[in-house]
Amino acid sequence: MSDYDYDLFVIGAGSGGVRAARFSANYGARVAIAEDMFMGGTCVNVGCIPKKLFVYAAHYHEDFADSAAYGWNAEAKGFDWRTLVENKDTEITRLNGIYERLLGNSGVEIVNGRATLVDAHTVAVNGKEYSAKTILVATGGWPVVPDIPGKEHIVTSTEAFYLDELPKRAIVVGGGYIAVEFAGIFNGIGVDTTLMYRGPLFMRGFDQDVRTHLAGEMAKKGIDVQFSTNIASIEKTDAGYVATCEDGSTVETDLIMYATGRAPKVTGLGLEALGVAMEDNGAIIVDDQFKTSVDSIYAIGDVIDRLQLTPVALAEGMAVAKTLFRDEPSTADYDHVATAVFSQPPVGTVGLTEEEARERHGDVAIFRSTFRALKHTLTGRDEQTMMKMIVDKKTDKVLGVHMVGADAGEILQGIAVALKAGATKAVFDSTIGIHPTSAEEFVTMREPVPEPVAEAAE
Ligand code: FAD
Ligand code: NDP
Repeated sequence: MSDYDYDLFVIGAGSGGVRAARFSANYGARVAIAEDMFMGGTCVNVGCIPKKLFVYAAHYHEDFADSAAYGWNAEAKGFDWRTLVENKDTEITRLNGIYERLLGNSGVEIVNGRATLVDAHTVAVNGKEYSAKTILVATGGWPVVPDIPGKEHIVTSTEAFYLDELPKRAIVVGGGYIAVEFAGIFNGIGVDTTLMYRGPLFMRGFDQDVRTHLAGEMAKKGIDVQFSTNIASIEKTDAGYVATCEDGSTVETDLIMYATGRAPKVTGLGLEALGVAMEDNGAIIVDDQFKTSVDSIYAIGDVIDRLQLTPVALAEGMAVAKTLFRDEPSTADYDHVATAVFSQPPVGTVGLTEEEARERHGDVAIFRSTFRALKHTLTGRDEQTMMKMIVDKKTDKVLGVHMVGADAGEILQGIAVALKAGATKAVFDSTIGIHPTSAEEFVTMREPVPEPVAEAAE
């Protein structure tokens, strides 16, 4: 046994920290974990879970309307924001308790309070010092907003989960995961919603067809989707807020929410003084096994800013536990990480975009299908599902699969397993479909779309 109080001291009881702490303790280590805000971290408290609950809430709007075509005489008599927030809070409190019990049952000591690093083996919380052979920084990230006049009037996703009342009108600024998800949530629960993105098309980094298709579907649902628009300043008025855009135009609204990215939460931790190397944005630099430039300090999750996703933080936490306490040097595998955006309709994606595939593999075949899902043949709702598969012509390997449509996240999880196993298009073709589903389209795509015609030379 070492002379330290603990074998591992984890800073941050979020997705990554809890996973690393629990498994390290299960492997026999003496572990403590410090948390200064909420047990379970971002995902449980102000991220994935409350977000998905809000997405369900928003979708009822369409479900009530669509049910009439199926013979139901259901009338939605209004939406009560307080009920949703309170029920969400109750569920989160339950989850907080589960996290606490999971840690306790594994023998992890929980230290409530803000942790700072004193030296390479010492952490201080509430004036008390704890020594550890290894320290794991898993402090996550925090929303960042641009420094514009009136920025004090901005809310971020964190506050949006706790609004006292639902605004009549809202502007959501940004064009990434959180912006499109919240635009869909607000719109679904009856807020007159504008999405503003500074570039010509949102969802940078996603497949081009996904981006254009989603933009069209969101607009059809009534969201005012504005591209190449950015707010220059915000003023509070008696009626709400006035946003002045960079082109001089003004928009009145009741709520301005920014979803313009999240930065690693490192301020005040004391990393600089210990010589822990960081990127310019504060992301802690780690090696393949999550060790920082200081041998006894490791870091995982959003604070290393690789892929800001809960399952990724979990995988990184697991790798640290195995490396340190199971004598099994491990890393996280970032290949074929599937992801879903819980927009309305949702996006599911795994592997390369068409643009990446053309650049890396050259000769690719594109299979694409756009159709109205069976459910909407009766409802008449003009929601189009888009599915796309990218295949390497040389090897027949499926390089990427993308979908915009109902249940995209559920469907893509299974497809991700196939791609991870190296499935070829022939394997998809020889798989018998499940009928009637939208997912069966992925095993019945026979004809590639025609190759784009090269511009004729002058
Ligand atoms: P966190 O979960 O952020 O945990 C860090 C913890 O450290 C926090 O609890 C914090 O309070 C604590 N902490 C920080 N500093 C200190 C300190 N000095 N002392 C003590 N404690 C400290 N991902 C998905 O995969 N799917 C989704 O659907 C999804 N939806 C999201 C929706 C929103 C609105 C947001 C914001 C994020 C979403 N994410 C989603 C991302 C996901 O939440 C994060 O990737 C994940 O939580 C990262 O885990 P982590 O352990 O790195 O950090
Ligand atoms: P993202 O990085 O996904 O998107 C940020 C958006 O804000 C981009 O469209 C970016 O534009 C824009 N932006 C950045 N700076 C400015 C600025 N100064 N003015 C105007 N626009 C700006 O961040 P999010 O905040 O949406 O989410 C953070 C991360 O959390 C995500 O990347 C994701 O990893 C994770 N997450 C995952 C979810 C899921 O799995 N379903 C859901 C929610 C979050 P540009 O593209 O031009 O740079």
